[in-house]
Amino acid sequence: MQRRDRYIVQSLGASLTKRVKDARVLVVGAGGIGCELLKNLVCCGFGIGYIQKMTTGAQDGADAGSVPGTLLGRTPGIVIVDLDTIDLSNLNRQFLFRKQHIKKSKAFVAKETASQFNPSVNIDAQHGSIFDSTYNVEFFEGFDLVFNALDNLAARRHVNRMCLAANVPLIESGTTGFNGQVQAISKNITECYDCNPKPVQKSFPICTIRSTPSQPIHCIVWAKSYLFPELFGTSEDDAPDMSVTEGDNAEEVAKLKEEAQALKKIRSLMGTSDFAQAVFDKVFHDDIERLRTMSEMWQSRKPPESLKFGDVRGDEDLVKHGQALCMQDQTTWELEENLAVFCYSLDTLSSRVQAGEPVIEFDKDDKDTLDFVASAANLRSHIFGIPSHSEWEVKQMAGNIIPAIATSNALTASLSVMQAFKIMRSQAQKTEAYGRPTANNALPTTTLTTNADPALGGSKMVFLNSKSTERMITTQNLAVPSVDCPVCSPIYAKLRISPGVSHTLQELVNELQQCFGYDEFSITTDAGIVYDPDLEDNLEKSLEDLAIKVDSNGFITVRDDSDKPKVDLVLSTIAHDELQGLLHVSPSDIDLPPKPIQAKAPEEPQPSNGVEVPTREKRKREAEDDVESASKRTKANVNGEAVIIEDDGAILLDD
Ligand SMILES: [Zn+2]
Repeated sequence: MQRRDRYIVQSLGASLTKRVKDARVLVVGAGGIGCELLKNLVCCGFGIGYIQKMTTGAQDGADAGSVPGTLLGRTPGIVIVDLDTIDLSNLNRQFLFRKQHIKKSKAFVAKETASQFNPSVNIDAQHGSIFDSTYNVEFFEGFDLVFNALDNLAARRHVNRMCLAANVPLIESGTTGFNGQVQAISKNITECYDCNPKPVQKSFPICTIRSTPSQPIHCIVWAKSYLFPELFGTSEDDAPDMSVTEGDNAEEVAKLKEEAQALKKIRSLMGTSDFAQAVFDKVFHDDIERLRTMSEMWQSRKPPESLKFGDVRGDEDLVKHGQALCMQDQTTWELEENLAVFCYSLDTLSSRVQAGEPVIEFDKDDKDTLDFVASAANLRSHIFGIPSHSEWEVKQMAGNIIPAIATSNALTASLSVMQAFKIMRSQAQKTEAYGRPTANNALPTTTLTTNADPALGGSKMVFLNSKSTERMITTQNLAVPSVDCPVCSPIYAKLRISPGVSHTLQELVNELQQCFGYDEFSITTDAGIVYDPDLEDNLEKSLEDLAIKVDSNGFITVRDDSDKPKVDLVLSTIAHDELQGLLHVSPSDIDLPPKPIQAKAPEEPQPSNGVEVPTREKRKREAEDDVESASKRTKANVNGEAVIIEDDGAILLDD
């Protein structure tokens, strides 16, 4: 036995070590957390199992042979999926990547580098989007555990749903600056990622942005979401971070609309030498002078000071000067310098429009758009007596960027693996007791935590607060699923369709009535409601026409509209060749229980990046939990090796 293996066995015990070796796990994302996670999994021996092929008839055993085989048709290993390529800015924390890897696939390079840490590991790297139909429910069913290492809400929610449909436990993780969070999710056992509503993006009142800014961010939002789209993109009505709120003055809102119309006229000067001056004098002089006439607005505020293009400019060639200045993105530009960058960026953006780019959208990584937003925001800040910022600082604020911290990612990834050990230990115990879990969780695990058999091996919600002066890592018990969560409360099943055969909606309706005895019910696809008792127009249409396709990776929700409704049924479409053109729901004998009536009080919202910072009350509760859990710490004897299993996730070797 290699030294590394010996240490793993000493830490985890022989049974869990075998389970870890034979595991097949999916890592979604090879970025900040993904790189750390992959390294940890590889070093802990995940997916290095060598199992005798079942077909050879040989005895199953870890040391029985060196032929890589399959366990119940599954090859042990780590599958990593990411659609991104490596960027220079990743290299400060995504340590599996080096300079020579820039522009290469993150997944492929991560595999290449991580494999060197443990050459026995089986890593399958896939460069693709997790939304792709290749990654359907059957793909997810092939794993013992899924790790989310994602940076966006949409992909997190998608993987959450796929794992619920496939009944595979998911370990969700995220970091925001110095904070991090790890949460285990399992169908019917814990709450899912969507049990708690996520808040919408922070929005500023339109009058603050357009008339009375008081902070740099107000001027940045003005430049990014008002001025820029007015000149180069779509209308301000589409801006998500500005809205008319109750506090806004209706008359003022109407005036602001007029002002925007006037700006549209100036657009017609684009490409001429007068364009920059026309825009400047309109927004930094005329509009400001109009604001100054609204004396009631300035009773308790300092009124803005307008600027005239001719007064600000010096003798130099503004465009040329601006081009040189915008390379210095860490310097805070002076007033004249902002004007130069403003003129240069208007010049480059106008050229792009005239070269055939119909709409330009602000993108923090599109330097031309950032030059414009940074200079325009600083000019406006000057007018309102607000401090200016360097372009680099504006980029952070405009892109809502919270810096990614390498150590937060590393700690969060290691906490994820700790939770994985707990879940795998409980999976091993369950499999021994009941056999492999089946769809929709036929195992008796619908209630959370009894002392004798804690759900998911006692896994907890773990919070990392690296700046906390009290405790850096805190935990909270996992919550039970929300009874009315639209994502995890339904029963999941599959709709098997033969590819190339055209089925009508009527066939699906018949199949559902036959399997589940529905009386009145509705069918909703990603495209909307396609069938209900009053909507029968689509019955003769083909499923393909109703966006129900084998390669769509979408879900179909069947809702019982009778007086005593059953729980919702959610179907995922799977191709099947052996049904001779038939359409078939599987399993077809699911007993759909009645829908619970009880509604749950709304939960505290979580930040949209998936990270929740524990509140003071929560921490207090956790501290109490810790006292209790300390008393529950058990000294277990796993296969003759003494280990102390701590309730807070640490597994320590007892010498
Ligand atoms: Zn849920």
